[in-house]
Amino acid sequence: MQTFDEQSIAQVEKALSASKKIVIVAHKSPDGDSIGSSVGLYHYLVKKGMEVNICHPDPAPYFLDWMTGIDKIKNAEEDPDEVNSLIASADLIFCLDFNTMSRTGKLADQLINASATKIVIDHHLHPSDEFDIVFSETSSCSTAQLIVDFIDAMGDTTLIDATIGEALYTGIMTDSGSFRFPSVSAHTHEVIATLIKGGVQPYKVHEAVFDTNTFDKLRLRSYAINDKMEIIEDSKTAIIHLEKSELERFNYVKGDTEGLVNVGLSIIGVKKSIFLMEGDGIIKISFRSKGEDNPVNVMANTYFGGGGHANASGGMWPGTMEEAITKIKSVLPEFD
Ligand code: 5GP
Ligand code: MN
Repeated sequence: MQTFDEQSIAQVEKALSASKKIVIVAHKSPDGDSIGSSVGLYHYLVKKGMEVNICHPDPAPYFLDWMTGIDKIKNAEEDPDEVNSLIASADLIFCLDFNTMSRTGKLADQLINASATKIVIDHHLHPSDEFDIVFSETSSCSTAQLIVDFIDAMGDTTLIDATIGEALYTGIMTDSGSFRFPSVSAHTHEVIATLIKGGVQPYKVHEAVFDTNTFDKLRLRSYAINDKMEIIEDSKTAIIHLEKSELERFNYVKGDTEGLVNVGLSIIGVKKSIFLMEGDGIIKISFRSKGEDNPVNVMANTYFGGGGHANASGGMWPGTMEEAITKIKSVLPEFD
C-alpha cells in the first residue's frame, strides 16, 4: 500500500530496533478508533518484544471496558507525573488518530518537546509538520484500518490474533458507523477479512460495544430526542443541546451521548445534525452531515475552533449554551 512506502517502513524498522521505550498516544476525548488503534498497536508491538506504554490525555469511555488491554492505558488526568515521565523518556512515540499535537490537549507541549522520534498514523486532513515519519491516508475510514495496513507493510500479518484483531475491529467498526459511511471501501472489507482470519468473531465485538447500554443512558437519549431536538427546516438541520443539569438528572457518565448526533441525520430530509453539550466552562459541539457537497468541517473550523472530516467534525464554544445556539443559527444559512 502506497501510504506505507518502503522507505518510510525501513525507517520505522530502524527506529524500532534502536528503541527501548515506546509510547503510544492518541487524541483527547478518545473514541472507539483512537482506543482500538492504540490497544491494537500496543498488543502487536508487545508481541514483537517491545517495551510499550499507552499514554492518553484522558480516560477511555466505559463502553470499551471489555477490551483486552484497556487497563494498560495510562492517562494524564489520573497519572500526570507518570505520563509526563514516560513521554519525556520515550525513544519512539506513535501518534494515532490525530493530525496535530494540539488535539492531545494538555499533552501537546510535552509531545512537541519530547526528544523521541515521532511517527504519526492518521486519517485526518492536513497532518502538521510536528512529526518525523508521516503515514497519513485521508481516504481510510479509520486509523485502525491503517494500523492493519501498517502491520501488513511490516510483514507481520501473521502476528494478528484475536486480541490485536478485536481492538482494531472496534476502531474500524465505530469510525465507519458499522461499515456504512462513504469512506468504507473494498479494502476496508479486505482488512476485516484479515482480522476475522486472525480469530476475531465480529458478533462479539458488536454485542460488546452496542448491547451494553445502561438504563440511564437510554433514558437520556430518549429525553434528548423527545424533548430537546429542534429541526431547522430551511437549513435541513437537526440540533440537540444538553445542559449540565440535564446530564446530571440522568446520572451522565462519559460515553453516554456517544452516537446521539447521528440520530438527527437519520430523519428524512435532514442533511446536517449538530449536538451541543455543556462541559466545564465550554460547550462541546459535534457536527455530522450527509453528502460530498455538504461538509461541516468548514463551519466547525471557521466559527467553533475545531475541524475534522468533511462529514464528521467537532468544535467548541467558550461561552454559554444560548450564545452557542444563537451563533449556530446565525451562521447555518452560509452553509445551506
Ligand atoms: P466528535 O463529534 O465525535 O467529537 O468528533 C468528530 C470528529 O471531529 C473527530 O473524529 C475529530 O476528527 C474531529 N474533531 C472533534 N473535535 C475536534 C476539534 O476540536 N478540532 C479538530 N480539528 N477536530 C475535531
Ligand atoms: Mn478516527
